[in-house]
Amino acid sequence: MKKSSLPFSREIEARNGSLVELRRDFHKHAELSFQEHRTAAVIAERIAAAGLEVRTGIAGPGVVGVLHGDKPGRTVAWRADIDALPISEAVQLPFASVNEGVMHACGHDGHTAIAITLAEILAERRADLPGTVVFIFQPGEEVVSGAKPMIEAGVLDDPPVECVLGLHLSARDPVGQVIVRPGPSMASADFFDVEIKGSGGHGAFPHLSVDPITVAAHILIGMQDLITREISAQETAVLTVGQVESGNKHNIIPDTAYLRGTIRTFRQEVRDQLVERLGSFASRIAQAYRAEARLHLTGEYCPPVDNDVDQTERVRQGAVAEFGEEAVTEGVPIMGSDDMSLFLKERPGCYFRVGAGFPGEVITHHQAHFRIDEAGLAVGLRLAMRSVLDALQP
Ligand SMILES: [Zn+2]
Ligand SMILES: [Zn+2]
Repeated sequence: MKKSSLPFSREIEARNGSLVELRRDFHKHAELSFQEHRTAAVIAERIAAAGLEVRTGIAGPGVVGVLHGDKPGRTVAWRADIDALPISEAVQLPFASVNEGVMHACGHDGHTAIAITLAEILAERRADLPGTVVFIFQPGEEVVSGAKPMIEAGVLDDPPVECVLGLHLSARDPVGQVIVRPGPSMASADFFDVEIKGSGGHGAFPHLSVDPITVAAHILIGMQDLITREISAQETAVLTVGQVESGNKHNIIPDTAYLRGTIRTFRQEVRDQLVERLGSFASRIAQAYRAEARLHLTGEYCPPVDNDVDQTERVRQGAVAEFGEEAVTEGVPIMGSDDMSLFLKERPGCYFRVGAGFPGEVITHHQAHFRIDEAGLAVGLRLAMRSVLDALQP
């Protein structure tokens, strides 16, 4: 990889070992969304020791650290998510999670370690630092509900943040590759339940019942036609049911059935259209079978990640200067969601991806065999440093 042109490149190299160690510590002590108490304590202790102003207990275990440079400049926020997932780790690692059934299977351990190390290096060089950096350590990203209460708690207002930056490690891209995409780059997310009410009875006498499972099956198969027949082919949308629940015995027709799923799109109009049509589609299919169906949206709507064009171009230029033209791509918009989008709705900014994958291996996030090439951490730290320093320039 290209040699770094960063002013603090020596510090980054010197801390590579401790960056990896810190990530392994968070990995070993993985904590679920809104239960990141040990994680938050380590973050607070480390950044307080580095000399940042620290606020804890924001949106539960959220932590904010404010670093004032001695020179004039802008105020920039760096956001890291800190939570793990309800997955039992299947990789044999010396630092595998000691919390049974909880695993850092998305890379947020790496995000947390990078943000702390970035804060420590910049704090040491505070005399040369223009402006103010606000470090936001957000809980509950995996349930897309940590960003909203942090914003409501005023983390972007005191001090007034002008730009928000952050990164996500990617096991699907090789180390050395960074993906910086202007505009919509991650999809919106809605979560829904379709509740189907029939009327139960003996499995041998279906004519005396209204079978909600049959209705659920017809809704499940038919709903994909909302994508293929009603959404323009130029648009992007996904409708997935991840959970079907009904009944408890071979020969009993149950009273109710549930379909639980998610809607992903890039435009509000498409999202609104799908939500409206899914509700009326489910209800009318159910009516045809003498049952009733209702659509319930559960949780908060998470908008698409929309990167500001100017801020993203700054990040891209920094990445090219740091790693060379061939290391930087725009990639494609991905259907995954991230509540970083809420920060980016409040302030212009950029959320970029940093490769941490093993060449030739297909590893997806959110699975028990998830792992990253830790060489990607230093790449992430370099680009985090570079993009923050560039954004701070008055
Ligand atoms: Zn995730
Ligand atoms: Zn993630």
